Amino acid sequence: MDKYTVEIENLRKVYRVGDEKVVALDNVSLNIRSGEICCILGTSGSGKSTLLHLIAGLEKPTRGTIKINGNRIEKMNERQLALFRQRFIGFVFQSYNLLPTLTALENVSLPLTFRGIKRNIREREAARMLDAVGLKTHMNHLPTQMSGGQQQRVGIARAFVCKPTLMLADEPTGNLDSKTTREIKELILKLARENRQTLIIVSHDSDVASIADKTVHILDGSIEKIEDNFISEG
Ligand code: ADP
Ligand code: MG
Repeated sequence: MDKYTVEIENLRKVYRVGDEKVVALDNVSLNIRSGEICCILGTSGSGKSTLLHLIAGLEKPTRGTIKINGNRIEKMNERQLALFRQRFIGFVFQSYNLLPTLTALENVSLPLTFRGIKRNIREREAARMLDAVGLKTHMNHLPTQMSGGQQQRVGIARAFVCKPTLMLADEPTGNLDSKTTREIKELILKLARENRQTLIIVSHDSDVASIADKTVHILDGSIEKIEDNFISEG
């Protein structure tokens, strides 16, 4: 039997802006297996980021259920969610979201600090992770002293350093040139595969889709179609 990292049923998200109602997601049901690489494809405004935010517990659904590792996250309060995210979820943002006054090493160490890990171990793990993303020589650089591609490598190292079960990446290469885009996507996929992590990556081109286990096409807030290429082990 398949073990699922993500189980979503009948999800709906409505935003209210003044008197306007925006239905960002409607009638979304989706299961993602443990260790699966899932690509979310859709045009701008189709609801991709909203879906990722709901899965990360950054926002509450209007209706529907979301289980991560069997836990109903839409029922959790903010404190429970914060702890849950620390334990199970990594997030790579399009805009990197690094803290500008911290070095690469300090940015990557931060999630380990929240977990109460001792300083020497934090720094060793953060350095190991920066090495793995090809930034051995940039550990002490500030974000402003790095290129966009290098900043995103720091973002990736920070997301992966705690080895989260579920990795979420929202258009992680949206601000990068095409060569860097390819390198960054390959890096995220390689790390996820190596660690057997479940990965959901939002993209608006189809090159990730071609190597993903599953591709979910979203149109106007609903699932248009799902292509499933997953081959079960054993
Ligand atoms: P995508 O990531 O696919 O470009 P989004 O999930 O960001 O799409 O947005 C889906 C829809 O929800 C859009 O119409 C957008 O304007 C709306 N939306 C997203 N976030 C908010 C918000 N915080 N408040 C109001 N409307 C929002
Ligand atoms: Mg988006």
